[in-house]
Amino acid sequence: KAKELAGNNYCFYTREMNNRTIENVQLENDLYKALEREEFEIYFQPQVDYKEMKLFGVEALLRWNHRKKGMISPEEFIPLAEETGLIIPIGEWMLKNACKQVKNWHDDGFGEFKVAVNLSALQFEQRNFVKVVQSILDETKLPPRLLGFELTENLIIKNKSLTYTTIQQLIALGITISIDDFGKGYSSLGYLKNFPIDTLKIDKSFIRDVEEDTDSSAILATIIHLGQNLKLNVIGEGVETMEEANFLLSKGCHYMQGYLFSPPLSIEEFEKSFLQKDKGLFKITK
Ligand code: C2E
Ligand code: MG
Ligand code: MG
Ligand code: MG
Repeated sequence: KAKELAGNNYCFYTREMNNRTIENVQLENDLYKALEREEFEIYFQPQVDYKEMKLFGVEALLRWNHRKKGMISPEEFIPLAEETGLIIPIGEWMLKNACKQVKNWHDDGFGEFKVAVNLSALQFEQRNFVKVVQSILDETKLPPRLLGFELTENLIIKNKSLTYTTIQQLIALGITISIDDFGKGYSSLGYLKNFPIDTLKIDKSFIRDVEEDTDSSAILATIIHLGQNLKLNVIGEGVETMEEANFLLSKGCHYMQGYLFSPPLSIEEFEKSFLQKDKGLFKITK
């Protein structure tokens, strides 16, 4: 049987896959060096209150500016960073610098807005994770109420009791927790009952084509109601059109994030478009 399988594997092991593997190994080597080479950058995507027409937060998104390949998507290198364990130092770098940046903006008088940082399961499962977070908050002096973590449903479901304990400890520090890509992953809703979650971020697949597709409109409206009934904040993710934004608003969801308002921006771009002192906090002008 094993031989049979091996035989099959051999058949599938084409030249193309071989190349891809070599490329992956190279990328992995480069990933090891990316931190010391200072190739990572943080982009910030505005989160807006569409009813008040203003910015209330930003999501910090990691970017790898590879010296030869240019920008590499997190969809490509985050899985690699998770496989190799590199997500631990990279995630720590990300958290520290995101906190530092938002604290700077805070100090410069741009008002208070929150920063949301994505977490991988491996980071969350570190024994000393809460201590690491605490020391980053101490060092950067960011008020914990301005920090949020985005976790996926899969992360929560993977090890419920560990996740529960860690979330409780983070909440005790004053940090808030969002469920990212809500609706896309594991379909069990049971954890919503017990976990001290602050926000649901509705996955962008439910936002898309909401006008034409009555099924996704129904699902979207139901998710918003679910969040409201559980007294959670709800953010619509990946909002690209006015139709999508207006639909969300009509169902009572006024927190949104998406290309309609802005793509993720470099620090310079974000400051230029959203943080001009004379303008105060961002106002939507559409
Ligand atoms: P995510 O946390 O769900 O982030 C939202 C993704 O949707 C971002 O992709 C963002 O650029 C994209 N997006 C925002 N608005 C729109 C829109 O209107 N339309 C469309 N089509 N897309 C939109 P990005 O930056 O490529 O990041 C992809 C994923 O990589 C993130 O999904 C997150 O899971 C992961 N990621 C990014 N940074 C980090 C990080 O620092 N740590 C970890 N663990 N994961 C990260
Ligand atoms: Mg996210
Ligand atoms: Mg998401
Ligand atoms: Mg995601």
